[in-house]
Amino acid sequence: MQIASGPTVLEGTPPSVSKTAVNTLQKLNVDIKLGTKVESSTVLPSGQTELTLSDGSKLTTDVYLPTIGLKPNSSYIPETLLNPKGFVVVDEYLRVKGADGLWAVGDISAIQRPQYALTEAQSIHLSKNIGLVLQKKEPLLYATGGKGKFLLSSFCIIG
Ligand SMILES: Cc1cc2nc3c(=O)[nH]c(=O)nc-3n(C[C@H](O)[C@H](O)[C@H](O)COP(=O)(O)OP(=O)(O)OC[C@H]3O[C@@H](n4cnc5c(N)ncnc54)[C@H](O)[C@@H]3O)c2cc1C
Repeated sequence: MQIASGPTVLEGTPPSVSKTAVNTLQKLNVDIKLGTKVESSTVLPSGQTELTLSDGSKLTTDVYLPTIGLKPNSSYIPETLLNPKGFVVVDEYLRVKGADGLWAVGDISAIQRPQYALTEAQSIHLSKNIGLVLQKKEPLLYATGGKGKFLLSSFCIIG
């Protein structure tokens, strides 16, 4: 069973994406329960997981795969560089605000939502900017919404 809190699965994605996901799940005979949240989960002695849903019902499942939310793995980064949700705050050049020679891209950055395509675009831009800075030139402004072709690591220190 697929449970989603919104009116469709993958809420917030383009309608074509959501439609494709629904069609794929239906072809796999997966039941879809919309407008419902998982309120809590408890592992039973049997190894199964019991879910309590927002409609008051309970569901026992062999495998429970929560795919909601995203918590940045930023515990190793000084809190002064993070926003309240734990994402690294960068300026419009992708430089970490409040630190010299420090840049951040990808899921850990607060500049855009965590998404592979955006990570690619940021990574390409970052590689250009690092090249410019190493040549003692000014870095370029990062335009949100760009596309890229390869991926670098999320956090990078130079200088
Ligand atoms: C289930 C799932 C489905 C997704 N589907 C899509 C999708 O369909 N389309 C899309 O655009 N995006 C999707 N994403 C998001 C996409 O995977 C990420 O946006 C992308 O991988 C971000 O790249 P990143 O390099 O910033 O982070 P990551 O890919 O998470 O790479 C970070 C790396 O840093 C390493 N690391 C972490 N902490 C440390 C540390 N302290 N020291 C050393 N190394 C460390 C990690 O092990 C990891 O290898 C999905 C993500 C998930 C979880």
